[in-house]
Amino acid sequence: MTSLQADVLVIGGGATGAGVVWDCALRGFDAILVDRADLAEGTSGRFHGLLHSGGRYVVKDPVAADECVVENAILRRIIPDCIEDTGGLFVVTPDDDPAYGDQFLAAARKASMPTEEISVGEALKREPRLNPGIKRAFTVEDGSIDAWKTVSALARGATEHGARVLTYHKVIDLHANGEGVTGARVRNELTGEELDIEAGFTLNASGAWAAQIVHMAGIKGVGVIPGKGIMIAMNHRLVNTVVNRCTMPADGDILVPIRTVSVIGTTDIRAADPDEIPVTQEEVDQMLDDGERLVPGFREARAMRVWAGVRPLFQDEKASEKAEDTRDVSRTHAVVDHSERDGVDRFLTMSGGKLTTYRMMAQDIVDAMCKQLGDERPCTTDTVHPPDNEDAPLYTLGSRLRRREANMQDEQLICECELIGRGKLEETMRRRGTTNLDDVRRSLRLGMGPCQGGFCIYRATGILHAVDRLDGAEASESLRGFLQERWKGMWPILYGDQLRQARLDDWIFQGLLDVEHVP
Ligand SMILES: Cc1cc2nc3c(=O)[nH]c(=O)nc-3n(C[C@H](O)[C@H](O)[C@H](O)COP(=O)(O)OP(=O)(O)OC[C@H]3O[C@@H](n4cnc5c(N)ncnc54)[C@H](O)[C@@H]3O)c2cc1C
Repeated sequence: MTSLQADVLVIGGGATGAGVVWDCALRGFDAILVDRADLAEGTSGRFHGLLHSGGRYVVKDPVAADECVVENAILRRIIPDCIEDTGGLFVVTPDDDPAYGDQFLAAARKASMPTEEISVGEALKREPRLNPGIKRAFTVEDGSIDAWKTVSALARGATEHGARVLTYHKVIDLHANGEGVTGARVRNELTGEELDIEAGFTLNASGAWAAQIVHMAGIKGVGVIPGKGIMIAMNHRLVNTVVNRCTMPADGDILVPIRTVSVIGTTDIRAADPDEIPVTQEEVDQMLDDGERLVPGFREARAMRVWAGVRPLFQDEKASEKAEDTRDVSRTHAVVDHSERDGVDRFLTMSGGKLTTYRMMAQDIVDAMCKQLGDERPCTTDTVHPPDNEDAPLYTLGSRLRRREANMQDEQLICECELIGRGKLEETMRRRGTTNLDDVRRSLRLGMGPCQGGFCIYRATGILHAVDRLDGAEASESLRGFLQERWKGMWPILYGDQLRQARLDDWIFQGLLDVEHVP
């Protein structure tokens, strides 16, 4: 059996794990990151897209709000290419109590969170589609953040500093001896091959799956309450500013403009299993109604896709306080020290947190590891830029066209919705060395526009066939896999224009190409 050695094994390739491996690599540790799937295929690739200003937590969870205020400013500096400065508004809708606005202002001042009350007229001038019945409005420094770009930049930066990133490698067991955890056995999910990783330290950044990893070390009494939330992407930007309801955190109270779409979310309900998070019709209806409260006519706009994610809300039986409602669990993070808690050395788990605070979370867990090792090395992730972010301005809607239009005239345009030319597509397919069109989607946003792959994905399949020399059967399998994935996010919201689009896609793929039966 193959065996690899490293100073540090990082489990989980979401924002937290990618932040951790980048931090380790910058501190000169030889690190390996493993994920059971592609990078950011867990919660990080299924979140709401909001770079929090802190406003959402400022009244109820001031510690979480403070962390957001600090990290929001750092991330804008460090990963500008991943962030759009949309700004944010907190608005008191006709259903909300205007007095909450005073609590909000007072808490924001206490947290040094920049905010200002503006007139309703000014808010409507900025966002003409907003509910004209709003009673108060406050500005905040919300933004939107692209998780796939963030995670891929961090992982790429780490590999440039010597780290190894193994996607589709699932941890199936932890190795432990009397001195603690010494690494893990992982299985390559594409080939079935198993390999051992011997590591001086193991950092568990597997989010909502963290308890499963902890149990592999024989540790009991640790659980994660998967807090399920659904989100719906509308096919264009109904607003250009993040719009939040100015009330205690509730369902469907934030609308985030991200890239070419706007995303309404989210719910927060306890799920039994992080891998079983189906979207129900009631949740979709509720979300559309909630959108209507912020932007009248919301239901008539075109809903493009729905998905669900799971919050990693950690629950420790040894902790004194336990929350019954997932919304009452603090959004702050904590490093679980298994040496102190369970007498298992060289093993730490990250619990809780948000994508906005991934950098701080990574710093905290790597600092804790250094402390245990007695090898204090300073963290530099608040000053060093990962690739593509050095000297870059903050992302704007036109950034992609500006970057690509120089060679667009000689290029075949493959995905019109997301401006992906053939050259970029081929380069990404080669670089990623993947035969999975869904991996390419996460790298380039292939097939993520209104047609949901209807016009681009058969072209991309042909190109994948040529580039990777997949035989016909493998290429067809890859195409079917992609269509299946897209369908999952479309069927619960099939009405209006998106239903028409789905019928057209169906005619193309079933009626014209007969994809189910192509060999
Ligand atoms: C509905 C919803 C909306 C949200 N919106 C926002 C928002 O707008 N802004 C914000 O800042 N935060 C938001 N969050 C929170 C944020 O998305 C998460 O806190 C963050 O993405 C968690 O990142 P992570 O890396 O810890 O976990 P994940 O991204 O889930 O990464 C964990 C990884 O571990 C891997 N893994 C699991 N088991 C194994 C194994 N056995 N072996 C190897 N790998 C394994 C998984 O494949 C996964 O990739 C939202 C969360 C939800 C659920």
